[in-house]
Amino acid sequence: MLDAMIKKQPLVFDKTDVVNLQQSLSGQLLQPGDPDYDDARRLWNGAIDKHPAFIVRCQTGQDVALAIQFARKQALPVSVRSGGHNTLGLALCDDGLVIDLSPMKAISVDPVRRIAHAQPGLTLREFVQAVEGYGLLTTTGTCAGNGLGGATLGGGIGWLMGKYGLIIDNVRGFEMVTAAGELLTVNAQENSDLFWGLRGGGGNFGIVTNIDYQLHPVGKVLAGMVIHPMANAQAVMRFYRDFSSAAPDELTVYAVLASLPDIGPAILLIVCYCGSDMNAGEKLIAPLRQFGQPIVDTIKPMPYSELLALLDPASPDGRHYHDTAYSLVQAGDDALESIITCAQAFTSPFSAIVIHHIHGAATRVPAGDTAFALREPHYAIVNAAGWEEGSAQPHIAWAEEALARMRPFAGQGVYVNFMGYEQESAVRDAYRANYERLVALKTKYDPTNFFQLNQNIKPAPQRERGL
Ligand SMILES: Cc1cc2nc3c(=O)[nH]c(=O)nc-3n(C[C@H](O)[C@H](O)[C@H](O)COP(=O)(O)OP(=O)(O)OC[C@H]3O[C@@H](n4cnc5c(N)ncnc54)[C@H](O)[C@@H]3O)c2cc1C
Repeated sequence: MLDAMIKKQPLVFDKTDVVNLQQSLSGQLLQPGDPDYDDARRLWNGAIDKHPAFIVRCQTGQDVALAIQFARKQALPVSVRSGGHNTLGLALCDDGLVIDLSPMKAISVDPVRRIAHAQPGLTLREFVQAVEGYGLLTTTGTCAGNGLGGATLGGGIGWLMGKYGLIIDNVRGFEMVTAAGELLTVNAQENSDLFWGLRGGGGNFGIVTNIDYQLHPVGKVLAGMVIHPMANAQAVMRFYRDFSSAAPDELTVYAVLASLPDIGPAILLIVCYCGSDMNAGEKLIAPLRQFGQPIVDTIKPMPYSELLALLDPASPDGRHYHDTAYSLVQAGDDALESIITCAQAFTSPFSAIVIHHIHGAATRVPAGDTAFALREPHYAIVNAAGWEEGSAQPHIAWAEEALARMRPFAGQGVYVNFMGYEQESAVRDAYRANYERLVALKTKYDPTNFFQLNQNIKPAPQRERGL
């Protein structure tokens, strides 16, 4: 009550500093009241409603450095945005400064060396559209609207990971601005400690302004889904486990438990075969198509971009979301039963359980080679609550209860890009034996924890003071 009665004091900033920043930027500086301000603070997750003091829509690495300098001088908290798809809304901060990279969308492709130089504000859709025309691709996540920046820095799991590894396994170099505003080239030769840490360490070490990706010749993929009614869930889930766990590198299979218009509660088995021999792919996928009596079968050769668009309608911009996630290493019958029980308790037609199968090349990289440590074959599972109106409470409770129900089956650590509001110990679990090396790197490059709106790795001075 008292809180509500205390009027928030307007933040006061040195006007000259603000004007200087405005005039020095190639991009745009937005403040509350500016016509574009509300659009610029809108995220994928409509449940997030934060009011930054400043949004710097960057065009160049120099803009990023200027924004850092300004935030330091004004002692402002900072958040970093690429595609704005982090479910927690880490891309925004209240009363702080948002370094918005979404206007940074340049990309060039060297088809001979099969390298793409890409800026982090590209969405996965835009990235794929730019490289696909060359008959080249690399691993991306499944959601076309995800930003390249966030999806890459956390690790990047996706349809092609069985054959080509995670997104980070295909990164050849970065350009980055440090907390001190210094522009660095980061690759296996230069600043190699950061090259290790940026591949999975998220936004902890600095702001990435360019990424070089190794591309691979990939034509059409054999992809699509079969849909089974939830009434057959037990048999379908057992089949899914056995089929996915035996799949070769070229074939990745996800399962989604959801409620579909016209169909009702259902299980979607979604496949992507990325080998060059479509006949071999058809043979591999045949058992999936023949199992049970799918009510829908959409599997066919298609451009990768079509596959990427497949799940778009399931998670539109602006809907309200709350996710919890865990890793499942041993998918025993009892764990599968519990997943089905969670799905039967959905509180909204827009909620889903999404099961990503991490396998193949992504799991053959030694866990110490990059910051991303979850290299064993496993399922990364997201309890995704979605709703459009009414109280958030039942939907949040569903996602949290689903996580609690699955805890006894969960492995150590969850993919940082799927993490909810977890404690520091969860970040430590996600990085396992790599954690102390990441703390040392954080202490070297960001000793004051300037970049802390992320799955935060605390630098040593803060840990020692128990902050
Ligand atoms: C519907 C949906 C489906 C998804 N599917 C997948 C999937 O298949 N595979 C997968 O791997 N992930 C998936 N994700 C998770 C996704 O990778 C993360 O949400 C990721 O953070 C999105 O990137 P972004 O740039 O849009 O994030 P933003 O919200 O813009 O940024 C999130 C955080 O990343 C950091 N960051 C972003 N860009 C930079 C940068 N350039 N420099 C430094 N730090 C930066 C910052 O800490 C920032 O707070 C999915 C998410 C959603 C919502």
